Amino acid sequence: MSRGPRRRLTACLTGIALAWLLASCAPAPEEAYKTRFLTLGTLVDVSLWDIDEARAAEAARAVERELNLIHQRWHAWEPSELTRINAAIARGEAIDIDDDTRAVLQQATQLAHASGHLFNPAIGGLVELWGFHEEGAPAGPPPPQAAIDALLATAPTMEALSFDGARLRSANPAVRIDLGAFAKGLGVDRAIAALRALGIEDAIVNAGGDLRAIGRHGERPWRVGIRHPAEPGILASIETRGDESVFTSGNYERYFDYDGERYHHLIDPRDGRPVRGTLSVTVIHTSAAEADAAATALFVAGPAGWRETARRLGVVQIMLIDADMNVYMTPEMAERVRFEVSPPPAVILGDPE
Ligand code: AMP
Ligand code: MG
Repeated sequence: MSRGPRRRLTACLTGIALAWLLASCAPAPEEAYKTRFLTLGTLVDVSLWDIDEARAAEAARAVERELNLIHQRWHAWEPSELTRINAAIARGEAIDIDDDTRAVLQQATQLAHASGHLFNPAIGGLVELWGFHEEGAPAGPPPPQAAIDALLATAPTMEALSFDGARLRSANPAVRIDLGAFAKGLGVDRAIAALRALGIEDAIVNAGGDLRAIGRHGERPWRVGIRHPAEPGILASIETRGDESVFTSGNYERYFDYDGERYHHLIDPRDGRPVRGTLSVTVIHTSAAEADAAATALFVAGPAGWRETARRLGVVQIMLIDADMNVYMTPEMAERVRFEVSPPPAVILGDPE
């Protein structure tokens, strides 16, 4: 072989070796199966790892079924088991409920109690008064103060409920149950249970940015984004570990602007008005239902009260963003959050107290 062809062969083999090396070092191709559908008034994304199409489709159907069941049972204004219960409460009558409904209401009651009723699913009357019991954003104006005061005077809490076997009764006919702050978490927990029952160990069920992730994305953990509360896009990201829920309550989710003021859907049960001073709260916790309730309670507690509410609820991984874009975090959360904006915002560390 002359020097020319030999050099060409060497170059060619080197090229092949380089290409092989590059291919083996390159990130693994995306093998996540993703599917998306609409339920609970939000877009739900299911991500699954390393699964064939047929099983993935079966898994997605199972998730959709669980979330639809929650939607049908707990819808706050479309005819549902919940509207049937609320109507009976308004009439001052007892009503028969099944075991599942009782267990959900008892868990919501226990979380409401632990939060000092900042998470208060009995304030459906106030949520409706502010216009949030309809599709889309209300047009405003805000309700008259006298109407707010009249509802506040009725002091609705979940503690008015009593359970006698299958019979539910409310000592306070002004209680209007609204599980908007909790039902999505409940549904996500059940969806994950349904996936596990199918033998799936690596998945994310993401309902409009609120999610539970189990297992891994192949060789690496799942990485999830946390929305910026004041701008389009992502503020930060987190790698989930094993089995975790990441839930955010934000003032940007449902709101109307009136006379230069934003009125959103997170109501402070103490004054009956949309909470001021908080933009968003993110909680990481194993249970999605508890993360959901806690995010709402901590949003209401705000920068001054979140640490006490966190202790009462037993949640330790929290990020709260106030109206000045100050970011409050527990050290356990700070250790995990990667800011995706530059410069990163100022962070104020605090422990539950
Ligand atoms: P989330 O996005 O989980 O914080 O839930 C917000 C929804 O919960 C609202 O749209 C209302 O239906 C309901 N809600 C509003 N304020 C409260 C509150 N203080 N406690 C419980 N539920 C609330
Ligand atoms: Mg919530």
